[in-house]
Amino acid sequence: MTSTLKLNLKENMLDSFAEGMAKIRLAESTGNAREYKFCVMHLFHFFELNLKYHVWLIDKHAIFSDGAKRKTITADTAMRFLEANGCKFRRYLKEDFTWLKELRNNIMHHEVSIDITHWRFRIPRILFLIDLFNKTCEGTKFEQDLSNKDREQYSALTSQHSKKLDEAVKSIIREHTTNDPARKFPLLYRCQNCDNHTATLSRLEQTFTCHYCGSNKVTQDSQKLANEYFCIIHVPTQYRTKTTLIKSKPEEYQDIETDSGLKRVAVPARYICVTKKKLVSPAYYVAKYAEGG
Ligand SMILES: [Zn+2]
Repeated sequence: MTSTLKLNLKENMLDSFAEGMAKIRLAESTGNAREYKFCVMHLFHFFELNLKYHVWLIDKHAIFSDGAKRKTITADTAMRFLEANGCKFRRYLKEDFTWLKELRNNIMHHEVSIDITHWRFRIPRILFLIDLFNKTCEGTKFEQDLSNKDREQYSALTSQHSKKLDEAVKSIIREHTTNDPARKFPLLYRCQNCDNHTATLSRLEQTFTCHYCGSNKVTQDSQKLANEYFCIIHVPTQYRTKTTLIKSKPEEYQDIETDSGLKRVAVPARYICVTKKKLVSPAYYVAKYAEGG
């Protein structure tokens, strides 16, 4: 055995990824929830190094924050650098990074509470989004460097999310098949159980139903509960120019210019999204919105 462990950036990243996967397997096989805590640590480390690895691929000096190469940049700086270099981060990926960072900071510095059900929905989404992000950036595939066991698990977890998301979108579309254009665009709410924008509200039954995780919430005051969720309409990027947001009643039309860089517009829940050129198809809108922009 050598007396020094040396791992380069990529090896260090893959090492933490492998540990994270091993902890998930342990948690699932033993039922020991403490394993999730260690998984958070390893996956966060992997996530952060993955960002720095992308920066390194673009500019080997840019991962350092000082000339003496003693300090490396923060994950936030890495994200800004990558965005400035054409890499795109989905809204959910940034939110998931923040969520994971908070958990990791709590573990490191104080005390922690991990909602295991929420965690089990969210980790496949994080891996799915990281995978998607990696595929959009050049030269960053690392699947071939993983062990067979880790590769299969990674693939199973990312597929789990994309399959469930796909089923959720189909279910929402089915539920909203109608000839009434004002109702074709379902209002999608963020589900507090799984964190996806895949919950719809049945006003008749006063129930929120999530088409991703199946959770149901009955409420006597649907507006109050709706306000606790994010009620934002995401304007798909390709339709950003002169997008019109229309209320369900035609006399309440409201034009909102979004070509000044504004990608998301916070609007009351009843607004639906069309463009001046053409109506965005409900299927496209639901899919884009549910998958996190
Ligand atoms: Zn859900």
